[in-house]
Amino acid sequence: MKQHLIFTAMLFSVASSLMAQQTFNELEYSPQQTTFTLNAPSSARPVVKLFNAAGDKKPAHTLEMKAVGKDRWQVTVRKDLKGRYYAFNIGGKRGDVRQDTPGVFAKAVGVNGQRGAIIELPPFVEEEARLPQLESPADLIIYELHHRDFSIDPSSALPERVRGKYLALAEPKSIAHLKALGVNAVHILPSFDYASVDETRLDEPQYNWGYDPVNYNVPEGSYSTDPYDPECRIQEFRQMVAALHKAGIRVILDVVYNHTFDIEGSNFHKTYPGYYYRYNADGSPSNGSGCGNETASEKDLMRQFMIESMRWWVDTYHIDGFRVDLMGIHDIETMNQIKAALPEDIFIYGEGWSAGACAYPQKQLAMKANTKQLNGIAAFSDEMRDGLRGPFSDDTKGAFLAGLPGNEESIKFGVVGAVDHPQVDMSQVNYSKASWVNDPTQMISYVSCHDDMCLTDRLRASIQDIQEDELIRLDLLAQTAVLTSQGVPFLLSGEEMLRDKKGVHNSYNSPDSINRLDWDNLRRYPHVFGYYANLIALRKTHPAFRMATAERVKDNLYFLPVSQPCLIAWQLNGKAVGDSWHDIIVVLNGNREDACVDIPQGAWTIVLDNGVVRPEGLGSIQDGKAIVKAQSALILKK
Ligand code: CA
Repeated sequence: MKQHLIFTAMLFSVASSLMAQQTFNELEYSPQQTTFTLNAPSSARPVVKLFNAAGDKKPAHTLEMKAVGKDRWQVTVRKDLKGRYYAFNIGGKRGDVRQDTPGVFAKAVGVNGQRGAIIELPPFVEEEARLPQLESPADLIIYELHHRDFSIDPSSALPERVRGKYLALAEPKSIAHLKALGVNAVHILPSFDYASVDETRLDEPQYNWGYDPVNYNVPEGSYSTDPYDPECRIQEFRQMVAALHKAGIRVILDVVYNHTFDIEGSNFHKTYPGYYYRYNADGSPSNGSGCGNETASEKDLMRQFMIESMRWWVDTYHIDGFRVDLMGIHDIETMNQIKAALPEDIFIYGEGWSAGACAYPQKQLAMKANTKQLNGIAAFSDEMRDGLRGPFSDDTKGAFLAGLPGNEESIKFGVVGAVDHPQVDMSQVNYSKASWVNDPTQMISYVSCHDDMCLTDRLRASIQDIQEDELIRLDLLAQTAVLTSQGVPFLLSGEEMLRDKKGVHNSYNSPDSINRLDWDNLRRYPHVFGYYANLIALRKTHPAFRMATAERVKDNLYFLPVSQPCLIAWQLNGKAVGDSWHDIIVVLNGNREDACVDIPQGAWTIVLDNGVVRPEGLGSIQDGKAIVKAQSALILKK
């Protein structure tokens, strides 16, 4: 029936006032009318194709769009289009169907994101939209996960229907695990609609990290229980967020605006060829992403797109923060405009590097070295990461954890949260020869993430013939450094259960057997989980470990003299920062032998020693000599 409806009531209208607020509001639906708007060059002849069903090859109607401003096109249909699908084509009615596109700002799509879907967004299930504002991002403990890693394995004991899906994170068992661990933010790997998993073949094993965006503003379909139903992914994503929020856990989205899978097939190119990317002088695409292209955040439309896209996720899905992939490809001005456009407590951090040379002045890019120019935006610190585990360039090389001297200043750089500190010799820091933050909250402190080997694999690769007991000691030592350093701590999911990836470094499309968490490990290594949880609780209880400003760190953190390499000791003035512990000493010993550190006189209570955490005390030191067991940490308090 519907195919024979005649659109006699169809009228064209000029931009409404809503349009002015949102440059990328490509579809404005109401039961009375739907307005399509597209940013496309003035030379284009854009049409909107309407389909009655997602799988229809031929459109039921094709509507010509009218120019409503410079490079801006629009058409309004005065009918209820709910349930229909649409595609734009800038080549006119006879345009190549391969150039059909749901536009750059589809809010709902059919399977594999090929067509936009016209739906009424379901209401948000969560009563309280936002969590109370944190005093400081230093209070965050971020847990980075991939949906499939986290829950696909039967050992997760989750209902089969939700394994590998958004809904797995809404399960009480998952929430209970996160709460027991104590993390208060989950960072989910790309969960916008991406290309590399075929949503029509979900009965076959497919795995991808998802760094190949298709529709930036729609949840990925393969993590929903029904990718054919445009509402399903939206509803389930929101259910996930609501359940996590209810448990006091924030949700951070990994966003990948810096590149697309390719140029020709991208929605950017199909709506405005040549506009959204950077090109070299010879006309070839610049490749700062290492994926064959890089977007041009400095251009008006791309900048506006990023701002509106993140605002969309915050407003519609109540996302609490963003991890910006290859942030070093984006320009500083754009990142600052994004930060200013979002609510104050939306935390943004990113990779302060690119994967190749960018066709834009380095000085104006959001590179790690330029972080001081980024207002409240943080970057990952590879200084401490590699000071602990060894360089990015060679998995077989160890560092502090392998007992190798020469990495102390790099770790101290992380301990102080990358601020200028008189006792950190910047000339000896591995990568940066100067502080790159205004405050420690601009530094993400970590030893592993989804990229590269996970911690246990790296320890096995870099330390010959390592035995399990040594591996566990070093694992706990590494995370003690992360969780007692100033800055914002970050853990890869599964480290708390000694996950491994069977030695695979770049597991972006490795099978589940490589990437999945084995939940039986929780039973095998209960003391590992317990240590992580206790250490996190220690950090949360004691503000001395999470000072928010550079000044506080400089005034209240000082390193104690040590007599040998691979030994780092520092004291925190807890009293000055409102901590119930007036003085705290942390010692990290990367050596294979016990070590001794001279500490200030007085009675010190041991609260963490050799893999055991007990805030009420494990013993005391009266003689000014602290013995730190081999390959372990010691924490004392007064
Ligand atoms: Ca997809």
